[in-house]
Amino acid sequence: MHALNLLRKKNLPSVAITALNKKNLSELSLLKKELTDAGVERWQFQMAEPMGNLSVHSVRKDLVLTPEELPEIFDFAYDVYKEGNIIVNIADNLGYYDTRNAEINRFSSIYKESSGIWLSCFAGKTVLGILCNGDVVGCVSIRDRRFIEDNLRKTPLREIWTRPGAFSWNRNRKIENMKGFCRKCEYGSFCLGGCTALKLTTEGDLTNNRYCLYQVEFKKKIDMQSFYLKMLGSDLQCDNSFSGGISFFSTSKFSADSNC
Ligand code: SF4
Repeated sequence: MHALNLLRKKNLPSVAITALNKKNLSELSLLKKELTDAGVERWQFQMAEPMGNLSVHSVRKDLVLTPEELPEIFDFAYDVYKEGNIIVNIADNLGYYDTRNAEINRFSSIYKESSGIWLSCFAGKTVLGILCNGDVVGCVSIRDRRFIEDNLRKTPLREIWTRPGAFSWNRNRKIENMKGFCRKCEYGSFCLGGCTALKLTTEGDLTNNRYCLYQVEFKKKIDMQSFYLKMLGSDLQCDNSFSGGISFFSTSKFSADSNC
């Protein structure tokens, strides 16, 4: 905070990034006040993924958020955005296909024409990362050795980028490569499962992303509908699957508004 206050005194802009975990989630309101008072211009929210120390020590591992805690993050972020005192940034490992998320992204994007909508991970497609030892990866957040494309000390960057098969894990990625909820998701073919680093650290592969707000909210809605069906004494079953993205039930009676 001292450094932020010094920057403010010198009229220099500052940005804060909060890696969200179970410990700091309840402290966000306090933090907001501190950052606003210190004149912070932008505040980025990102999920603390189970990588590095957070994946090794069991006590720290317990700090990793569960998917069910995502709505709380977006509620908070949207409130901060609406208050307008600080520009909110939502990192790529938080999303997807939520109208508030898109609105925040549109506002905070440096690109004027940005729709704010997640259009899949661009690692190895339009961006790349170079690690301190020269390893070339699709994105510096991807720290899984299987995704090191090559090393600059051995191969020129142009060759790494343009050779056949380069970054094929993402350039050739299709909905057919997905499993679980993502495979059936109506946004699956654009989204391709959200952030790659997030999936690798939480799922161990790239096939499904339980840390997706859309997925979490959808499942909540299904649970709620199942509950109401039980309350109504109906023996109809929620089949928990997409049917053209429209009807989730075996009767039209309860399916009219079930397309999230
Ligand atoms: S469920 Fe999967 S494919 Fe659908 S929006 Fe979420 S991350 Fe993307």
